[in-house]
Amino acid sequence: MSEPIAQTGTPSFTFAHLGLAPELLRAVADEGYTEPTPIQRQAIPLVLAGQDILGGAQTGTGKTAAFTLPLLQRLLPHVSSSPSPARHPVRVLILAPTRELALQVHESVKTYSKYLPLRSICAFGGVDIKPQIEELRKGVEILVATPGRLLDHVEQKSVSFASVQALVLDEADRMLDMGFIPDVKRILNLLPANRQSLLFSATFSEEIRRLADTMLRSPILIEVARRNTLTETVRHRVHPVAEHDKRALLIGLLKSDDLSQCLVFVRTKLGCARLARELQRAGLLAEAIHGDKSQADRIKTLDAFKEGRTRILVATDVAARGLDIDDLPCVINYELPHVPEDYVHRTGRTGRAGKQGIAISLACAAEMGYLAEIEKLIKRPLERVDAPLFPTDQAIRARPSRNQGASSLRQAPRNTIAPDGFDFSKPYEPMGEVPDSPDLPKKPEPHKPRKVIAALLGGVGRK
Ligand code: AMP
Repeated sequence: MSEPIAQTGTPSFTFAHLGLAPELLRAVADEGYTEPTPIQRQAIPLVLAGQDILGGAQTGTGKTAAFTLPLLQRLLPHVSSSPSPARHPVRVLILAPTRELALQVHESVKTYSKYLPLRSICAFGGVDIKPQIEELRKGVEILVATPGRLLDHVEQKSVSFASVQALVLDEADRMLDMGFIPDVKRILNLLPANRQSLLFSATFSEEIRRLADTMLRSPILIEVARRNTLTETVRHRVHPVAEHDKRALLIGLLKSDDLSQCLVFVRTKLGCARLARELQRAGLLAEAIHGDKSQADRIKTLDAFKEGRTRILVATDVAARGLDIDDLPCVINYELPHVPEDYVHRTGRTGRAGKQGIAISLACAAEMGYLAEIEKLIKRPLERVDAPLFPTDQAIRARPSRNQGASSLRQAPRNTIAPDGFDFSKPYEPMGEVPDSPDLPKKPEPHKPRKVIAALLGGVGRK
């Protein structure tokens, strides 16, 4: 289980004040939580009272417990020791966009319900459906599922929604990005109209609001962080860099001692696998996680990263969704996302549970427009920092041995003029402010001195 969110002082307001059942309080205490987080404080009494909720909360805020604990409590009158499946119908349905998030939510359900005789399962695609059917047939009160697989179960008639009394739609914005909204709407049509519904989303587009209108009845809006805002404990840097220098810069950054573990984002599955291979060739402990990998492979890769056996995880946006690693110190955007909200999601993977994190973006000229979109969304400029000078990866590969001196590592490649006229022998020159048009040629700027990596990571001269 992940580490609790850091809290200070003696708690003046505890979980007991929220009126939770002793079995739930015990499970919460076992996790080491002393005080409810802001979203838990707001949501738990409302969910206990049967209210519909529109929740604006990112992962890392404690939102899973905020809906799981009160929903478990609402199931207490239905707890039954009978082995008959008919006595254990699905009463709570939790929809999550990805297998990883579904698994994570299910872990929380199991954790918080461990002192209660309630049954739960997690149903996601990409794995054999039969064991899920068998489990469903035995009867479960809480079903955590991804939309596609849930509809497979509907087709197989392995699930009945007749007794569903509460629905949770987690990370609705991601459901939208992944094209799951039609599936979600089909599921909504199959549920009893008289139910409690909770919708959580880190960002709110018009489409999410429309979905909320159809799904929720007189919802109460609760928000913990302002929408589309960045996690406060994360420092952000942008290194303007020529496209063909990105790989060398990334390898240099990853080889610097300051970065222990790092999640590197790319935009495409193909690019993801390729970059991981290139990092491996450069001698780095890197793995890729993307949607084309089998579920078993994805779980294996994630576990290796969570346990620290893999130092670098190269991921696509979809694959990294729901990745919950409390101690992840760094996220690097090797490519900027084309959807600005994804910047918020990506960088929210670090700085979790009250820890410090750093988010570094490598932005080439063609991406300056996307950078401007991100800054518009988060309503603040991101700090541009000159890229530190590292050898190109050709130079790294040409390196005869690991113990060769640092000075030779910084040598430029023999042929220093690239086909586009770029001179590798000169230090990198930043592109300056965000251009109005990403295609405009940049005016050369005066040479700025190279900075040490510690300074770039905030280690030197920071207040
Ligand atoms: P979530 O936003 O649900 O992904 O939760 C983020 C992290 O916070 C998880 O690792 C939880 O274990 C942890 N957490 C949840 N509630 C609390 C709490 N009241 N106090 C401390 N940590 C918590």
